[in-house]
Amino acid sequence: MSAGAEGAVLVLNAGSSSLKYQLLHPDTQQVVADGIAERIGDHGSSITHEQDGDVEKVSVELPDHHAAIERAMQFFTDHGTDLRSAGLRAVGHRVVHGGRTFFRPTLIDDEVIGEISRISSLAPLHNPANLIGITAARTLLPEVPSVAVFDTAFFHGLPDAAATYAIDRGVASMHAIRRYGFHGTSHEYVSEQVALFLDRPLDEVNQIVLHLGNGASASAIAGGRPMDTSMGMTPLEGLVMGTRSGDIDPGIVLHLHRVAKLEVDQIDTLLNKQSGLKGLCGENDFRTITEKVADGDQSARRAYDVYIHRLRRYIGAYMIELGRVDAITFTAGVGENAASVRADALAGLENYGIVVDAERNALRGKDARRISPDDADIAVLVVPTNEELAIARQSAEVVTRPR
Ligand code: AMP
Repeated sequence: MSAGAEGAVLVLNAGSSSLKYQLLHPDTQQVVADGIAERIGDHGSSITHEQDGDVEKVSVELPDHHAAIERAMQFFTDHGTDLRSAGLRAVGHRVVHGGRTFFRPTLIDDEVIGEISRISSLAPLHNPANLIGITAARTLLPEVPSVAVFDTAFFHGLPDAAATYAIDRGVASMHAIRRYGFHGTSHEYVSEQVALFLDRPLDEVNQIVLHLGNGASASAIAGGRPMDTSMGMTPLEGLVMGTRSGDIDPGIVLHLHRVAKLEVDQIDTLLNKQSGLKGLCGENDFRTITEKVADGDQSARRAYDVYIHRLRRYIGAYMIELGRVDAITFTAGVGENAASVRADALAGLENYGIVVDAERNALRGKDARRISPDDADIAVLVVPTNEELAIARQSAEVVTRPR
C-alpha cells in the first residue's frame, strides 16, 4: 500500500545536471518515495524512482530540470499519487548559498528568487542549479508553497574571529568575502541527534561533527552553537574531498595562472572537479580507494594518508577551540561506512580520552551508535545524517508559522 501524500513535503536537491527528490512526512519521518534524475541536459539521462518497494529506472531524454520534475511526477501518478492534488504541505529546496541575506528557512517568492540569484556569484556552481529547480517546481506545482533551506544558514552565527579572513577589510566587505560554512543542515541535524543519543540537553554538549561524504566538512559546536567549520566562503576550503582540494596555499592559484597559464575557469575546474582524492589517485569513491590500499596501490595509499592527515589536523584544532569535547561524530557516506577512516582519524589519542573500540567500530548499522567504550571520556559516535528530513521539517515549520 502506498503511504498517503497528504501533508507530506517534497524535498528537492537540484544540482547542475542532477535532481534528487524525496517525498516524506516531516512528523512521522515516513518516506513515501524518493528518486534521482541524472545527466540532465546531456546524453544518456535517466531517472530512478523508488516507491512502495519498487525501484524503477528509465533511460529518458531529460533536456532540463523541468522535464525531470515532470517525469518524476509521472512516476507518482503511476503509483496513484497526483502531486498537484495530493495536499502537499510544501516543496522544500536545498539552496547551497544564502550569502549574508538568508539564515533561516525562507518562503520563496519572486523577491527571494531575485536575491538568491544575486547571491549566485558567491556559488556559481550551485545556486543557479538550485534556482532552476525552484522555478521548475513553482511552475509545475503552483499551488504548493516553496521553501528554501540554506546550506550556510546554521553557520550564520560563527564567531567573528572564525568567520573572518585576514585580508583587506574594505575588499572583503565590498565583495562579501567571509567564511560562510556549508553542509549546515547536516551539521545542525547531526549535532541535535548526538544530544538525543547522549540523553543530554544540546546546550550542554560540546562536539565535533565530521561530515565525510563526497563533499566533506568538519565543525566545532559548543552547546548547539557553531564555533568553527572547515568550509569557507565556498565549499572548496577545508578537508580533502572526493574531487575538491580543500585547503591549499592561495599562492598556488596565482602560480597556476602566472606560470602554468591556466585561465580562471580551468583553475576552478581543476580545484573543484579534478583534485582531492581523485586528483591524488584517480578515484573519488572511498570503497575503491580502500580496496586499492589493501592491494598495495601506492597512489591510493598516499591519497588515503593525505585525507587522514588533514582530518586529524582539523580534529586537533577543534579540540583546542572547544576546550572540552564531549563527542566526536562521524556522518555521511564515508563517515558512516568507512571503519578504517574512523579508526585512523582517531588513532593514538588515548591520552586525550579518545578511544575507538575495534569491535564496535567494525559493526555496521543504520542507527546512531557509539564506537568508543562506554567509559571513555569522549564519546565517539556514528550518526546517520538525514538532510531531507531536516529540510522537510524546516519547510513544514515555515508554512505553518503564523505570518
Ligand atoms: P555522500 O556524499 O554522503 O553520499 O557520500 C558518498 C561517498 O561515500 C561515496 O563517494 C563513497 O566514497 C562513500 N561511501 C559510500 N559507501 C561506502 C562504503 N561502504 N565504504 C566506504 N565508503 C563509502
